[in-house]
Amino acid sequence: MHTYDYDLFTIGGGSGGVRASRFAAQYGARVALAESGPLGGTCVNAGCIPKKLMSYAAHYHADFAEAAGFGWSVGEQKFDWATLIANKDNEIARLNGVYSQILENAKVHVIKGHAQIVDAHTVAVNGQQYRVRHILIATGGHPVRPELPGAELGITSDEFFHLPALPRHAVVQGGGYIAVELASILNGLGCKVTLVQRGTQILRNMDHDLGHFLVNEMRKKGVDVALDTRIMSVAAHGNIRQVMLSDGRTLDSDCVLFATGRQPNIKNLGLENAGVLTRENGAIIVDEHFATNVDSIHAIGDVIDRVALTPVALAEGMIVAANLFQHGRKLMSYEHIPTAVFSHPNVATLGLSEAKAREKHQHISIFKSEFKPLKHTLSGSTERCLMKIIVDTGTDRVLGMHMVGPEAGEIIQGFAVAMQCGVTKAQLDATIGVHPTLAEEFVTMRTAVV
Ligand code: NDP
Repeated sequence: MHTYDYDLFTIGGGSGGVRASRFAAQYGARVALAESGPLGGTCVNAGCIPKKLMSYAAHYHADFAEAAGFGWSVGEQKFDWATLIANKDNEIARLNGVYSQILENAKVHVIKGHAQIVDAHTVAVNGQQYRVRHILIATGGHPVRPELPGAELGITSDEFFHLPALPRHAVVQGGGYIAVELASILNGLGCKVTLVQRGTQILRNMDHDLGHFLVNEMRKKGVDVALDTRIMSVAAHGNIRQVMLSDGRTLDSDCVLFATGRQPNIKNLGLENAGVLTRENGAIIVDEHFATNVDSIHAIGDVIDRVALTPVALAEGMIVAANLFQHGRKLMSYEHIPTAVFSHPNVATLGLSEAKAREKHQHISIFKSEFKPLKHTLSGSTERCLMKIIVDTGTDRVLGMHMVGPEAGEIIQGFAVAMQCGVTKAQLDATIGVHPTLAEEFVTMRTAVV
């Protein structure tokens, strides 16, 4: 006779929650998962997947333009937003089904509805209470709007994926992942875009060369990037959104998109009923084993606001499942996390930025290469590529690898394995390149620039 209805009750069916639940069930735990929306969370429904599909769509613009240099004549080009959105929605519906199937196969009981913590061992959904040994909070986050007059007239990434039509002129505020990715998509699909960033650089938390280089490349593609600028107010005149900028300009747009960060989803979760502590921004406080201050309650993913990336949430979920149901004491390493920004061109980054490397290491060497990709010798495009390696001069260990250019994420993934293994610059140098590729540049840079 069990004292509890479930060994694990997961709140949130996004990447982290689903992964943790599936693994816990495979380890023999009786698992339930509550989700009020579609399965798959932000990544599947309003993030990584729709964004990447739409980024592919936006790349065709440049592909058509560049085809002539290779002898192709491309006929009339017409883009239909409704087709893209419908096809994207079909794929997302398919993925929702895949997630459902995965959970069903793993014998995880999925409960549709908003879950609320009643006490350290009780969760309520749709009026029914469940007694549970462990609770895992994996509720993710949501986009936030800045506080300014007329902010409610703008949209966030959540609404972006369901816009009824492609805007003609969009003003995008922010300089992080979401702002540059969505600005690039809109620009590629033919919308006039003004990107407004309050600071003097975009992608501020990455190696600074990346943001500076990307601004230049985005401007070449036609994006109006306004740095050191803020949106002061937004006003509506019919369908027009009149945007006042701190640089004195007033822009008439038909879409204002705020990509100004995200906050943890903790509303109506009942955290206070169990006394779960949060940081000021709402992020649930956890220790190195993802345990909150309440022994039976753990939390992972965006709701703990450590590293808001799907693969990180997956890794955290697997660690919690193993630690709870396999008597593991695994720890999560946040070192060497590779990540890509699907701006046009793409950005990828791994390890330390130059600034962080200088803080942590006495002597570093910088290897940097900026060049025109072979493809663009015929394509007519002026797009350039940046690759950068940061090395600890004393140990020869590679500390960081960074890139702006086509398929940067695909390229950096392999080097992430090398860095995980502690690769040195000498080992990169001893690696035979694949010719002619962009990636070979990472193993052929010989002269330090600093
Ligand atoms: P970020 O925190 O990355 O960027 C927020 C941006 O908005 C920053 O440029 C910030 O400026 C600016 N900003 C914040 N508050 C204000 C304000 N009040 N007024 C004006 N500007 C403001 O958030 P995102 O929303 O872009 O993304 C959230 C997270 O989601 C990312 O950090 C990432 O972890 C994840 N993500 C990952 C993706 C991927 O892997 N490809 C894609 C999308 C999201 P400043 O730079 O000055 O602070």
